[in-house]
Amino acid sequence: MTDTRTSSASSAEIMELSEKVGAHNYHPLPVVISTAEGVWVHDPEGRRYMDFLSAYSAVNQGHRHPRIIQALKDQADRCTLTSRAFYNDRMGEFLQRLCDYTGYEMALPMNTGAEAVETALKTARLWGTKVKGIPDGEQEIICCEENFHGRTITIVSFSTDPLARDGFGPFTPGFKVIPYNDPQALEDAIGDKTVAFLVEPIQGEAGVNVPDEGYLKAVREICTRHGILMIADEVQTGFCRTGRRFACDHEDVRPDMMCLGKALGGGVLPVSAVVADADVLGVFTPGSHGSTFGGNPLAAAVGIAAIDVLEDEKLDEHAEELGEYVRQRLRAIDCPRIRQVRGKGLLNAVVFDDGFEAWDVCVALKEEGLLAKQTHGNIIRFAPPLVITREEIDQALDIITRVFEAI
Ligand SMILES: *Cc1c(COP(=O)(O)O)cnc(C)c1O
Repeated sequence: MTDTRTSSASSAEIMELSEKVGAHNYHPLPVVISTAEGVWVHDPEGRRYMDFLSAYSAVNQGHRHPRIIQALKDQADRCTLTSRAFYNDRMGEFLQRLCDYTGYEMALPMNTGAEAVETALKTARLWGTKVKGIPDGEQEIICCEENFHGRTITIVSFSTDPLARDGFGPFTPGFKVIPYNDPQALEDAIGDKTVAFLVEPIQGEAGVNVPDEGYLKAVREICTRHGILMIADEVQTGFCRTGRRFACDHEDVRPDMMCLGKALGGGVLPVSAVVADADVLGVFTPGSHGSTFGGNPLAAAVGIAAIDVLEDEKLDEHAEELGEYVRQRLRAIDCPRIRQVRGKGLLNAVVFDDGFEAWDVCVALKEEGLLAKQTHGNIIRFAPPLVITREEIDQALDIITRVFEAI
């Protein structure tokens, strides 16, 4: 076996150092990853694990996909950063590829998912005042309970998770929060000053909360009828994760704007964007928004390769097919504490009884060679890289079955 070690420090030493000098804004599983390839990651001691989190779906193409790494290296040898003060020779090509893939006329590149969401919110407010004629400062945006859209002050202003909000006030005004999966609540919440509805087609961080069939279609119809923008946050659900290019595709719904991130960076770089048609994204003028790193040539080269891989390897169809099989096998597990198995494509979750603490189960899975993380204490999300093979899926499900049936 090849030596996978890159440093002489042990996992224990690395974890201790990270906790000592790093702010404690995460509570990671006690595992250190030092090398990775495809579905597999290795710790400094050479133990190997299957990655069933995929960096919250940022690694849909698998760790270090050869085509994406080659694109990164080739571009690193040419030009990496120009800022938007000048044109670079890769951004236009990247945005064209992204527009072709998503079916929109324009794109605005940023870096992180939170920045894409912020960009969508700013677009909606600007559109509201410029196109709808709502006085600036009075625009209102509707969001959903249990949402996750990122960590900026504005975004946590409409979070309903006390952990994400408490201590971070004062908050940004202009948001109204309604129950998820409730078209009537949206209908009732829309007023004269409403400019947009921001929604996740599946709530990932809330525990893979899949809305009823028809919800997104109903949302689309309501937004159209009231002349407000439907904004889909596809940062986690996009790029083949749920078995289609985008989760909204399951209902043939075309939002007015999509927030994209995570897998757009191919597991290599933070690459995000907002896509929409020109009547929406056209509201920006020079100086009204920007990002030093957004649209940089290195990110553009990686983004193109990331989309190429999704398309050429038909990862949407692959995720759809394997997803059915995964849920079928998860549902067959004999464990009385399991309440529900839910998901679409390869974004799935096992929900345990209320109050069940899944941390120990995740540690047990890790000991057996599979990495997954609980959300909300009692839910475990399973989201492997989409390049996973049927054999690897079987190997993983054998581990999951063994651990769950021992609970
Ligand atoms: C991860 C995520 C974000 C935020 O992305 P970051 O890159 O962490 O800023 C936004 N929306 C959704 C739905 C996400 O899952």
